[in-house]
Amino acid sequence: MMDSEFRWAWFSAALLLGALALAGCGKRQPIDPDRQGRMVYVDTASGETLAMDIAGEFPAIHPRTGKRTLMPALYCPKCGKWHPVPPPDQINRTARAAQCPKTGEPLTPDGPWPGEDADARPSP
Ligand SMILES: [Zn+2]
Repeated sequence: MMDSEFRWAWFSAALLLGALALAGCGKRQPIDPDRQGRMVYVDTASGETLAMDIAGEFPAIHPRTGKRTLMPALYCPKCGKWHPVPPPDQINRTARAAQCPKTGEPLTPDGPWPGEDADARPSP
């Protein structure tokens, strides 16, 4: 009896450690299901950032104005801002497209996402 209790305690401790290790590895976050199939855009007309379903064409249609003013955005950790970048099919052909125009910092798709608006979805 003592032996199985000891094993159970050991098993729980191992589980706890495993959970802590998972929670602790801050940088490598798992893909947020809320972000799947979505991306961040900058509205070139207003400068507003918004998150929306990934568009097939760029500039993408702004869900509120109906105008093609949305460019894909990448985050600049140095400025703390989302910068508009060329569409995915052009970004590889544009030198320095994925760099901050001000600081030259490499831009990243991971950043604090803009407040997700339930209305910010294109109407079918
Ligand atoms: Zn920047």
